[in-house]
Amino acid sequence: MKRETEILRLILGDQLNYSHSWFREERPEVTYVLMEIRSETDYVQHHIQKVAGFFAAMREFAKHLTENGHRVIYMNLDNPQNQHSFSLNCQHLIDQLKPARFEYQLPDEYRVDQELRSFTENLSIPSNVCDSEHFFTTRTTFFEFFKGKKTYLMESFYRMMRKKHELLMDGNQPLYGQWNYDQDNRKKLPKNHTVTPPLLFQNDVSEIVELIHQKGVKTIGSIDPKTFIWPINRMQSLELLAFFIEECLPFFGTFEDAMTVNAWSVYHSRLSFALNIKMLSPREVIDKAIDAWKMNPDTISYNQIEGFVRQILGWREFMRGVYWQHMPEYSELNYFGHNKKLPNWFWTGETKMNCLKHAIGQSLEKAYAHHIQRLMVTGNFMLLAGIDPDEIDRWYLGIYIDALDWVEVTNTRGMSQFADGGIVGTKPYVSSAAYIDKMSDYCSGCFYSKSVKVGEKACPFNSLYWHFYERHESKLAKNPRIGMMYNVWKKMDNDNRTALLAQAEYYLKHIEEL
Ligand code: FAD
Ligand code: SF4
Repeated sequence: MKRETEILRLILGDQLNYSHSWFREERPEVTYVLMEIRSETDYVQHHIQKVAGFFAAMREFAKHLTENGHRVIYMNLDNPQNQHSFSLNCQHLIDQLKPARFEYQLPDEYRVDQELRSFTENLSIPSNVCDSEHFFTTRTTFFEFFKGKKTYLMESFYRMMRKKHELLMDGNQPLYGQWNYDQDNRKKLPKNHTVTPPLLFQNDVSEIVELIHQKGVKTIGSIDPKTFIWPINRMQSLELLAFFIEECLPFFGTFEDAMTVNAWSVYHSRLSFALNIKMLSPREVIDKAIDAWKMNPDTISYNQIEGFVRQILGWREFMRGVYWQHMPEYSELNYFGHNKKLPNWFWTGETKMNCLKHAIGQSLEKAYAHHIQRLMVTGNFMLLAGIDPDEIDRWYLGIYIDALDWVEVTNTRGMSQFADGGIVGTKPYVSSAAYIDKMSDYCSGCFYSKSVKVGEKACPFNSLYWHFYERHESKLAKNPRIGMMYNVWKKMDNDNRTALLAQAEYYLKHIEEL
């Protein structure tokens, strides 16, 4: 007798690729399954917008497949058959539907990859795993490119990618003769500059939010369930991309590092959620941005487009490469042996430090902070204060709508905390108040004073900065990019050094009161 379902195919919540070859034709003998499960909602405490966003996008995707003639099983969080694990649910469906084969797409997260690998190894029917058809690179491209090399340089990886994919190239040379236009970027917002307000969607996700609460899923942050601002389907993702290209790309590179209390996303794209769950492909994002630049070179200068392409073609693919090259050890690296607890105000935003209050406050409210807020405000403080990277990972992995292990852990342990000892970056990203003040308007509204180093009003970044260098001298002094800082430190008057270290010690002891 012919089975109704010949093939059972699992679609993960971050595999909502509308253009995947799986869906090119109607296949009545194929059943697709998507599931809302507790193992995913609970492996870390997530932002409520992240859980709601994933479920809303998964439901939209299932609806789209059904409308296009595909057979879909969608398991809600409260489905009585739901056993809240990929393996248990798939096994149950295999027992019920008796397909001849089980198929899935390569997961991006090591945790899920391991689970599905061991599930299929023990399965009584044949299984097949295929590519998610999203990234420019495969899991091994990075390994092959850096084989035999002592260090991984993002810049050389990026150049190889530009050549290979013929993006912004003039034959074998970079367009206009230079690979990197960073020197034209990274400007502070001029006074009286008004940032274009971001495009926000008004999705009603109240039913999902109610279900999440009803089932007792523990979350962080806030949500307005009637006006959920993030894209939940391909149409909205494309709309956000078009908005970015039209309104933000002309300023993207120039103000890439700028921060302000008046605009929570400045000119950033906010495409990371749509990209990471694959509603958009990186190729189409880059192609559309390049097309727009070609059509409007007077509005979109070359440094804007080069900066944007570098983030997606360079950093994003590079981080994925580091992840697959170094997992599972990577998620446990702690080069500095940091072990302090994350202050409680990271969960409330209630601190007198204006920069942190803003970056944390908006993260709790929007499930988003842009790159420089993550790197040079929250990450900078955590590194200077010596917070345990496990606690840091839990915070970043939970709070951001775009946080998936492969891109979170590499950015957090690697780029931000230097906990990998220099696999991702060549030196730790730390700064005193000077950098934050240069790139933002945070300091003018702060309880602390940006230029004061010691005393009640001293900005904590100023003394913690030197404390960090002092306590890690044996690990950092030989770094050619840092040695200079030790010269400055050593040349400082002894009393000044002692006072700075005492101030930092005081702040570390009273970290909850900062
Ligand atoms: P834009 O500034 O508009 O950049 C465009 C796109 O480039 C992004 O959408 C993203 O896909 C890509 N991109 C830019 N920088 C990076 C980077 N360093 N690594 C990978 N992709 C990049 N990004 C995540 O997607 N998920 C995370 O969990 C995450 N955690 C981070 C944690 C820390 C401590 C730091 C410093 C960075 C983290 N990033 C993470 C990278 C980056 O901050 C976000 O991708 C970016 O802020 C997302 O906002 P956007 O879409 O507006 O980005
Ligand atoms: Fe942040 Fe220091 Fe500036 Fe206050 S003074 S906003 S704590 S950098």
